[in-house]
Amino acid sequence: MSITKWVYDFGNGKAEGCAAMKNLLGGKGANLAEMSSLGLPVPPGFTITTEFCTYYYANGKQYPSELKAEVAAALAAIETGVGSRFGDPVNPLLVSVRSGSRASMPGMMDTVLNLGLNNVTVLGLIERSGDARFAFDSYRRFIQMYGNVVLGVDHHLFEEILEEYKHVNRRALDTDMTAEDWRALISAYHVMVERELGRPFPQDVHEQLWGAIGAVFGSWMNPRAITYRRLHDLPADWGTAVNVQAMVFGNMGENCATGVAFTRNPSTGENVFYGEYLVNAQGEDVVAGIRTPQHLTVAGKLANHSDLPSMEEVMPELFSQLDNVRVLLERHYRDMQDIEFTVQQGNLYMLQTRTGKRTAAAALKIAVDMVDERLITEAEAVQRIDPASLDQLLHPTLDPKAKRTVVTRGLPASPGAASGRVVFTANDAVIQVTLGEAVILVRIETSPDDIHGMAVAKGILTARGGMTSHAAVVARGMGRPCVAGAGELRIDYKAQVVVVNNVSIKAGDLITIDGATGEVMLGKVATIQPALSGDFGKLMAWADRIRRLKVRANAETPLDARTARRFGAEGIGLCRTEHMFFDAARIIVVREMILAEDEAGRRTALAKILPMQQNDFFELFQIMEGLPVTIRLLDPPLHEFLPHLDSEMEEVARAADTDVLKVRQRSLQLHESNPMLGHRGCRLGISYPEIYEMQVRAIFQAAVDIMMAGGAPVAPEIMVPLVGMRKELTIIKELIDRVAAEVVGVSGVALSYQVGTMIELPRAALRAGDIAHDAQFFSFGTNDLTQTALGISRDDAGTFMPDYRRLGIFEQDPFASLDTEGVGELLHIAVERGRATRPGLKVGICGEHGGDPASVHFCDKIGLDYVSCSPYRVPIARLAAAQAALSSSSIQD
Ligand code: ADP
Ligand code: MG
Ligand code: MG
Repeated sequence: MSITKWVYDFGNGKAEGCAAMKNLLGGKGANLAEMSSLGLPVPPGFTITTEFCTYYYANGKQYPSELKAEVAAALAAIETGVGSRFGDPVNPLLVSVRSGSRASMPGMMDTVLNLGLNNVTVLGLIERSGDARFAFDSYRRFIQMYGNVVLGVDHHLFEEILEEYKHVNRRALDTDMTAEDWRALISAYHVMVERELGRPFPQDVHEQLWGAIGAVFGSWMNPRAITYRRLHDLPADWGTAVNVQAMVFGNMGENCATGVAFTRNPSTGENVFYGEYLVNAQGEDVVAGIRTPQHLTVAGKLANHSDLPSMEEVMPELFSQLDNVRVLLERHYRDMQDIEFTVQQGNLYMLQTRTGKRTAAAALKIAVDMVDERLITEAEAVQRIDPASLDQLLHPTLDPKAKRTVVTRGLPASPGAASGRVVFTANDAVIQVTLGEAVILVRIETSPDDIHGMAVAKGILTARGGMTSHAAVVARGMGRPCVAGAGELRIDYKAQVVVVNNVSIKAGDLITIDGATGEVMLGKVATIQPALSGDFGKLMAWADRIRRLKVRANAETPLDARTARRFGAEGIGLCRTEHMFFDAARIIVVREMILAEDEAGRRTALAKILPMQQNDFFELFQIMEGLPVTIRLLDPPLHEFLPHLDSEMEEVARAADTDVLKVRQRSLQLHESNPMLGHRGCRLGISYPEIYEMQVRAIFQAAVDIMMAGGAPVAPEIMVPLVGMRKELTIIKELIDRVAAEVVGVSGVALSYQVGTMIELPRAALRAGDIAHDAQFFSFGTNDLTQTALGISRDDAGTFMPDYRRLGIFEQDPFASLDTEGVGELLHIAVERGRATRPGLKVGICGEHGGDPASVHFCDKIGLDYVSCSPYRVPIARLAAAQAALSSSSIQD
């Protein structure tokens, strides 16, 4: 018979678990064990494993018989460690019951503190502490917490009783309450709980303990936790652990305190100790926003213009102890930590450590600094940055020159600027966003109930809470700009209005917040492009050294091309020539060409377009300075260019010197019922070779011009779209070669160029071996290939895709992240067959997927030469490509 161990001890300088056992012990339990083994002052306790949680749900919520005995033994070990007994009337042990899954997860049961208090043990606590006020305050906190989170009594009911009592007895603040007051309140709580539940508040401490344990495991399946897991793709079978730990008291007097800290600044990444604390306080008081927290360091106090003394000043010795812990934890974990601590009567206790959440900017700075400090290697630094998070750094910040009306200031809790319409609830945020609005979620403070609204809001603004409040931490994790603790805001949820310094802002009004400065502004404020810091350049250089895949950009305008180069693109992987046609001045000529009745008419119009296209390519080649440029010949269905309005038809008729009736007739003729699969791509070049001829001539003449002007030699890569049959490419390649020979003949300048094709039809992928005889390169157009392989129209998928996602038919939107199983197999086949015909065939990808990190990994794996993506995604692709190279090399090791 195999015996599963369900319970692991920690404390007193040793532990049965360790940090590596996170899956079994949950993050909190594993790190409490690790800190114990490191010799840090951790109150002793034990962890019931996540395996138990899985067992519990697999067995009809039954407890295995051995559990009781294991818990009893572990409890006895705590009693020995602390020197008090659970339920003892004279010297009672009190514990906290804390949930802890692998990933920290809002939505789980809140921690219950001071468990083990009842009408008898509270007297023991008075005896032991010599402080009746403290003991009764702890007991009433316990009844309130346990009553709410375990027994499900609405917390308003407790608050009402407290407010009523304070009002009647003229107590303004909690601190005005005497021991006698708290005692009276406890009686009132007991009466209320019994009335609500039909049974008294549990006095048996073991019943209390098992009730709390059961509530933690029960909370794993509550709707909030389920929503969070869905949002973050966390599997339900991970389970949660439960931690039971001896209480230490930060609320036993002025030589007590409780606090939270980051070992480095989580917003900027600066290597400074960064945190907040409160004297004579317990548990979540610091983050709850009830009292204004004080800074840990003098520097922090000054930087935030706080007049409350810092811990460094008030408790210098304890501060320096804590500072040593900070250094030790960073050396040990080799990463920035987020810690929780409590000081009980001059003794420091560590209650938690975990890898700290940080902004993208901070992640970058910390990774680069840690390489300089020799804590981690360059490769580790590259692996630590989530490529998608770079988005935060690449996007605009407020234009310092733009006019702004600042109405108030809060804490700069998560950087970035955001404008949007004010909403006051998470649900309203979701509704407005569905209607296409950008919103700023404005709350007094946020809680895990607001996660769904925070996820869709452009920014978050709160009136209460510090830099470590729920809003601040969650916003940083999500990369959302956030201004927290803007204390001047008077929010009236009922009236849907916030008043600040005599300005009232209603729901639906536009505001702007700057999470880097804490400013709150009226209206929408203009933004500018970000400057990329030195750290960014360093990390990118490391990534570039590691990656095998090349990264190009999809660009057709000079602006896009410049942006692409600024972000490190190594060429253009896709220049969509039709985008050059939509310009207001050109579209008339383009329409004239399309609507012409015969070749002669088309050629007349094409002659007008030629110099424009030639100039486009000249500019592009100039900016790219000899880097490869892949130009796709005209691709979209002609119908996209057709005039719709009468006035447009008249315009075209005038330009082409014909009458409107003819124009209208020809428009009708060109109408298609399924243009996506209609007269488009190379089919245009087959029917109207003169169009492609003009484009190719423009490309070659531009290349010649560049070289004659002394520019870097260009070797254009001409890409033929939507090839399904080799013969299509053969015909068009002949055309291209003929025009090239003509241009060379006239100019006398030698040209080198390549002709290739886009693989965007399943047939092309399957017949790649055949097509590669004519193609010198392939580029996967995975947008169309996904549409044609799945038979799903991207523009219409919105109607059923949510159902498909919800039911897990698609794990991911196949248009955002490559369907590696299906479409991916087509890619794989095409690469193999193409290279079998033409060894070393250059292959790239130029769909949206080229900038999606998971898709980039796949492209690396199947041996593509490059990915091409929109200019803003280039850094993301560079980093993802490096990570792909690192993960494939670690597999081979
Ligand atoms: P969360 O997962 O929300 O961070 P925790 O389990 O860390 O919840 O508990 C929240 C807070 O409760 C801690 O930061 C700490 O201040 C307090 N707390 C938890 N356990 C203890 C304990 N054994 N003694 C004193 N305070 C505790
Ligand atoms: Mg919590
Ligand atoms: Mg915690």
